[in-house]
Amino acid sequence: MKNAQINVPRLVRIKAGALQRLGLYLARSRLTPAALFHSEGMLPSILDAVRQSLRDQRITPALLCEVQEASVEEAVRLRSAVPSSCKALIGVGGGKALDVAKYAASLAGMPYFAAPTSVSNDGFCSPQASLTLEGKRQAIPTGPPEAVVVDLTVCQRAPLPLWHSGVGDLCSKFTAVSDWKLAFYRRGDPVNDLAALISDASVFQFMANPVSDEEGIRLLATALMLNGVAMEIAGSSRPSSGSEHLISHALDMTGARPRLHGLQTGTAAYLVSSLQGGSHHRKIGELFARTGFWDSVRKQPFSKEEWRIAVERAPSVKEDFYTILSERDAWPEFARMIARDPALIGCFD
Ligand SMILES: [Zn+2]
Repeated sequence: MKNAQINVPRLVRIKAGALQRLGLYLARSRLTPAALFHSEGMLPSILDAVRQSLRDQRITPALLCEVQEASVEEAVRLRSAVPSSCKALIGVGGGKALDVAKYAASLAGMPYFAAPTSVSNDGFCSPQASLTLEGKRQAIPTGPPEAVVVDLTVCQRAPLPLWHSGVGDLCSKFTAVSDWKLAFYRRGDPVNDLAALISDASVFQFMANPVSDEEGIRLLATALMLNGVAMEIAGSSRPSSGSEHLISHALDMTGARPRLHGLQTGTAAYLVSSLQGGSHHRKIGELFARTGFWDSVRKQPFSKEEWRIAVERAPSVKEDFYTILSERDAWPEFARMIARDPALIGCFD
């Protein structure tokens, strides 16, 4: 389990107005010229702020392109447009643009700057990219970003369900680590204690101030970033992804309506933690009640039938990946909770 070397972000700026200083961070790192990949339909004011920050440092982007879809094919296509004079690749926006930029940078062997405009999941700092290849979703190893730039003012303006999605994805670390430890007890799968500790601790840090103000978003962004670091330390996605992510992946494959990743993983973590025992179920429940997480789910309730199919399919989504779902027929218990738990009223139809 010991890695010869781990890579972690060298530059981390999680603060208000950070995007206005992006050009400065690049210039100081002597990583110019740079190519910029951004989300489709991104708010013009965000893109303007980024471009102005580059102009302030007399940096002309070597390439400015909009990412249309989160696929390997798109990353390869855009990578081929990046001039060889480029010294870095910047991804600005949501998960789609960041994953494509991260993978394109790894193909080009270039440092990558991640600048998420919301904190809706832990992908912005993870050492892998979630992309489709020939239509099938895959987690492709890329290494972590060289720099993480989170503008708290920008993230605070993002719609509330995106923040709830980040809260849900963070809570799934509780269930992921429990599944990892279960795999150790049942099969001897090695656990990296430091990675597990970082993953667990990151949730508690956020719980100290679980609100969507600037400080709360700073804590959430930091916690999600540390999860990416935990994955790099572990050399696997185990610290961040367990049975709750298997259910979410199965929903992505079989469900009719794509939903925010963290709303799926968070809801699945709430259900799975009730099977795992211990105090996580209560803690997740309290956090979701305090943050209003369920309100975002109720705006567009999940389909109970889609969840039944996904939960049944989840254990076979990833090969050789032991979780609580490997040893329990979980759906009957989940169905009972969905019917009886007052917190879940209106979350499924
Ligand atoms: Zn996730």
